[in-house]
Amino acid sequence: MAMHVAIVGSGQAGLQVALSLRELGHAGGVTLVGNEAHLPYHRPPMSKRGLAEPIGADELAIRTRDFIAQRTIALRLGVEVAGIDRQAQRLRLGEGERLDYDRLVLATGSVPRRLQLAGAHLPNVVSLKDYADLVRLRGLLAETRRAVLIGGGFVGLELAGSLTRAGVAVTVLEAAPRLLARAASADLSAYLETAHRARGVDLRCGVSIASIAGEARATAVLLSSGEALPADLVIVGVGADANDQLARSAGLATDRGILVDAAGRTSDPAIFAAGDCTRFDHPLYGPALRLESVNNALEQARAVAAGIAGQPAPDATIPWFWSDQFDLKIQLAGIASPLDRIETVHGEGDFVRHFVRDGVLRAVEAVNAPRAFMQARRRMAGEMASLNHMKEPA
Ligand SMILES: Cc1cc2nc3c(=O)[nH]c(=O)nc-3n(C[C@H](O)[C@H](O)[C@H](O)COP(=O)(O)OP(=O)(O)OC[C@H]3O[C@@H](n4cnc5c(N)ncnc54)[C@H](O)[C@@H]3O)c2cc1C
Repeated sequence: MAMHVAIVGSGQAGLQVALSLRELGHAGGVTLVGNEAHLPYHRPPMSKRGLAEPIGADELAIRTRDFIAQRTIALRLGVEVAGIDRQAQRLRLGEGERLDYDRLVLATGSVPRRLQLAGAHLPNVVSLKDYADLVRLRGLLAETRRAVLIGGGFVGLELAGSLTRAGVAVTVLEAAPRLLARAASADLSAYLETAHRARGVDLRCGVSIASIAGEARATAVLLSSGEALPADLVIVGVGADANDQLARSAGLATDRGILVDAAGRTSDPAIFAAGDCTRFDHPLYGPALRLESVNNALEQARAVAAGIAGQPAPDATIPWFWSDQFDLKIQLAGIASPLDRIETVHGEGDFVRHFVRDGVLRAVEAVNAPRAFMQARRRMAGEMASLNHMKEPA
């Protein structure tokens, strides 16, 4: 019997599940339902060049409408999925419509954390998650001379670069004692702190914010120290949580993310999940991992498609991530642990660190050193393949 696969969330993971199903010869129906009106699009360019260039949503599209149609993938864009009836294997769509499924994939992404602060609701206080946010942010840019970014994560730091280059005076406020404390080594944090300051960013770590001041619009960010930082624009980038709300309402196993196995299976054998919305065990990097990256969304999507098509799950791969800040190309692979020995690698680029344990390279951090980064990824894949049957990077 040809199964109908419904996919909720037309982002990076959702589209990849649909495409991989067709590549694997799935002959049944595939319906991709997404609450955004745009074709599935790349989010990373939004914080890198989206402010400087008037990129349209179609230019960000991962695939054209024709490409998707040729693979007989039914697109239902601008449609919210309001609930799952697991018993009937049926989705409840907005406006009362129903959609039956044989297999369901949840690829609902993540939701930006909100600031619980006075003034956070003001119209020039924004975050950058989707294309609508980008349009809003661009609209505010013309009136912006001073921006305060709350949160020194990757997206915030990319925006700090984009805004500084656009002539805006930028202050970045980070609550933790150092930048990217959970994602990067102390060495990389220190490197980036120096680099941002040298390029004109007023960067402050270990800062506590009291409120955002202003009546109709935000005019300043008030620190607990009593200092007021004037701002025409406030960008909030304090992280994101897994969007597991549909799964929770349907009674699937969740723990700040939809719990899935290596093939993306949830606690219901008819339902799979992939991408930012999931939490999973990685054979090398530990249990209950949640990753927010394009690479993870694509790898999990391929595993889900294989699971639905009845094929073995592909081997786990080494997670990797990149970020462009000013003229800095930052690349990370693997996940470093405090137990690793840190080796400084001299040669190409400004910064390369290897994280080694028991003679095995487990993670690499690089800035402006793409070849050294790729060599390290190859070595990691090779060394780990022998331990865990990891596959080579593409
Ligand atoms: C500005 C920005 C820059 C980034 N830069 C990088 C980078 O440099 N490198 C990197 O690796 N990663 C980067 N990321 C992260 C990367 O884009 C995400 O990890 C990736 O998009 C996750 O894919 P996903 O399919 O899980 O979620 P998403 O791409 O977020 O897609 C989820 C989709 O599901 C929809 N949805 C949710 N609930 C429902 C519902 N009930 N009904 C219908 N639709 C629903 C959402 O609206 C959304 O369209 C960046 C993210 C942002 C926002």
